[in-house]
Amino acid sequence: MSDGKEVQRWVDPAMFASEKLSADNGPKVYLLQAPADPLGAIAAACKMYKGEVVRDLATVTDGERRDYLEQVLKTRLQMPFETVQFHFLLEGVTRSFTHQLVRQRTAAYAQESLRFAVIEDGLSDRVALPPSLVGVSLRGTGYEPWVRGEAAMPLELDAFGRLTDEQKNLVDWYLAVKTVEAAYGSSVNRGMPAEDARGLLPHNVTTRVHYITNLRGLLDHAGNRLCTQAQFEWRLVFSRIAEAVRGYDAYKDAMVGFNGYSDHWIENDYSWQYEALAELFRPICYATGKCEFKADFDRACSIRNRVQANADLNRPSSYWDSEWDEVEDNPVVAGVGPQSVVRDERNRPVFIGAIKPAEWLLDPGAAR
Ligand SMILES: Cc1cc2nc3c(=O)[nH]c(=O)nc-3n(C[C@H](O)[C@H](O)[C@H](O)COP(=O)(O)OP(=O)(O)OC[C@H]3O[C@@H](n4cnc5c(N)ncnc54)[C@H](O)[C@@H]3O)c2cc1C
Repeated sequence: MSDGKEVQRWVDPAMFASEKLSADNGPKVYLLQAPADPLGAIAAACKMYKGEVVRDLATVTDGERRDYLEQVLKTRLQMPFETVQFHFLLEGVTRSFTHQLVRQRTAAYAQESLRFAVIEDGLSDRVALPPSLVGVSLRGTGYEPWVRGEAAMPLELDAFGRLTDEQKNLVDWYLAVKTVEAAYGSSVNRGMPAEDARGLLPHNVTTRVHYITNLRGLLDHAGNRLCTQAQFEWRLVFSRIAEAVRGYDAYKDAMVGFNGYSDHWIENDYSWQYEALAELFRPICYATGKCEFKADFDRACSIRNRVQANADLNRPSSYWDSEWDEVEDNPVVAGVGPQSVVRDERNRPVFIGAIKPAEWLLDPGAAR
């Protein structure tokens, strides 16, 4: 301190230290706010279509709440889903992810800006590993202590040559991250504005962003981005979004804010509504019953063949996780793999393998 003023650490007074963030455990999702009675609001909007006037959500029955959720899933009139607004905080998502996130115009966003937020805690923790490097081990190679910052890089000439290609990729990755870390830190401390120094940072540097959307936009977004076509990080984020929705304590929220809800609502536990909403997140093909990514610029997909075969038979997605065999013990399908489709001479499917959610949810290579 001098003459009562704090010493200016960085060149721009708008710059601040970004709160520590670790990419280690993947993205985190916090549902900050959501309505107390989402399915009640959806039901009230639907009842208007039939001339039934709801003046208090307490008059909506649980049966109506469940039924109208199902009905909206069967119609193009998706407006009732706009009655439900969510406010999420996403943390530990990469900059590449947020660049894709904000393309969705149905939501609002507030992101920590690297123009002003200075990353002081180094990049090794902040930069997320891509799926092809997750799980690659350097144990016993001499590079592990270097990665942890506990030793210098091995100097022995052919130490690198003895690594597998995957291990070489991982070493190259860390070498680049450590180089950027040193250049970024030194530049900011020598007086370069963060908005200039951030140009050095990698796409996978993690960040935090508020994501405010209604249920209609959220389901639309989930449908597109849970598709195998989208980058794998989306599937991690939507899994966490589903978890945050499933575990949301609307009762606590209503008590804290007391948002004008009636005693009736306060007396009832409506957490089941959030469990029902969490079941809705799935790829678009599950909602429409067919693949929606068939242009020549779309990518391959490991489940498309079976999705299309199910579509040919108008078989609803609720059955897709079990196989379909037209004739039991059909010799035509003997020996085919569980992920196969067999068609007859008229091109009609006679066997469709089961689609397991893990195939589209957990496989980063499902579109290759
Ligand atoms: C798998 C995948 C791969 C992608 N790859 C690329 C890529 O390589 N390059 C790239 O640039 N982008 C890419 N995108 C982003 C994509 O092009 C869209 O910008 C993004 O998905 C949001 O578009 P949207 O139409 O779904 O939603 P929004 O643009 O948010 O629109 C939502 C809905 O609002 C309506 N709407 C909004 N604005 C208008 C308007 N002005 N006029 C009429 N209707 C409107 C439409 O009904 C629309 O369905 C990709 C997206 C996905 C899912």
